[in-house]
Amino acid sequence: MVQFVSVSKILDLVNKHGVETVLKGMTEYVEEDYRRWSLFDKTPRVASHSKVGVIELMPTSDGELYSFKYVNGHPKNTKEGKQTVTAFGMLADVDTGYPFFLSEMTVLTALRTAATSVMAAKHLARADSKTMAIIGNGAQSEFQALAFKAVMGITNLRLFDTDAEATEKCAANLDGKGFTITICRSSEEAITGADIITTVTADKQQATILTDNMVGAGVHINAIGGDCPGKTELHKDILLRSKIFVEYPEQTRIEGEIQQLDDDYPVVELWEVITGAAEGRTTERDITLFDSVGFAIEDFSGLRYIYDLVKQDEATQDLEMIAEPADPRNLFGLLEVKQAAE
Ligand code: NAD
Repeated sequence: MVQFVSVSKILDLVNKHGVETVLKGMTEYVEEDYRRWSLFDKTPRVASHSKVGVIELMPTSDGELYSFKYVNGHPKNTKEGKQTVTAFGMLADVDTGYPFFLSEMTVLTALRTAATSVMAAKHLARADSKTMAIIGNGAQSEFQALAFKAVMGITNLRLFDTDAEATEKCAANLDGKGFTITICRSSEEAITGADIITTVTADKQQATILTDNMVGAGVHINAIGGDCPGKTELHKDILLRSKIFVEYPEQTRIEGEIQQLDDDYPVVELWEVITGAAEGRTTERDITLFDSVGFAIEDFSGLRYIYDLVKQDEATQDLEMIAEPADPRNLFGLLEVKQAAE
């Protein structure tokens, strides 16, 4: 049987344990897997692009467990009452090849993306960071805010979205959760005084959410929204002034902000900073940029974390996804067994 975590189940789990506890725990799992990066199979995700969006498969394995995620990205969806990003994914046992855990991953993707962002910022942002601007106040935004509060103690938020209703929604969802929130009327206003800038907008085009003159020395940019060919958020000149950190260069060069740069432009792999193999920020004046696109190992960590939470919980649902004939070579015999039982 395959254990199944539905949307309702993951919401119950997160509510039961508390969203900040879950974000903290997941950040530890992501970091643990980044520390053993070399063990994993790595490949850029397999993307199927259309005029309106993308559908992707994201596989990886550490030699014992295998995982994959199905995920889409359709910026037009919200106008049709649907989400930009939806996902589901699985864990399987490498030894038998049997899948054993299937989970919704729309909520899980928001959690693991926020966990990865804050893990990067913990290693790259100035230690005295207190204020974060969030530009793009859609589905991912509250998860980002809460992860930065839970792990780094960031409680001052400056919010901006081209759609004022999105900002109102984000501010209302975060109300009473220990933040001081400033609602801003432009990106420029939002980043004033911010130590960390999170860009998490959705648009299937090369957008310029931030221009070079807006970004001062010492900030950390957590660039989440540019994650597809032809879909970026930052002006190229910001990249040229920043120290750039990426998940998996082979994928980021196709999908990230650095698609605007030459293929051999130097970037640092985040796992190297986390293991101490490479330097992160070296001065208070560095502009550090986490050019996030989302990588399969983060989904692996997220699934692993939720699987461990589910193990502590009695009420799980089993799915009959794998045929298990008594004689493994007599698959056909199952037809007759079933008919006889009816
Ligand atoms: P969403 O559609 O729910 O929200 C996006 C918000 O951006 C909307 O409220 C929209 O009004 C706003 N926006 C668009 N253009 C803007 C602009 N120029 N300035 C300010 N705001 C603007 O989408 P979401 O689920 O929150 O995802 C946001 C982005 O993050 C998407 O592009 C998605 O593909 C990406 N994403 C990346 C990762 C990752 O791992 N890096 C993970 C999940 C999502």
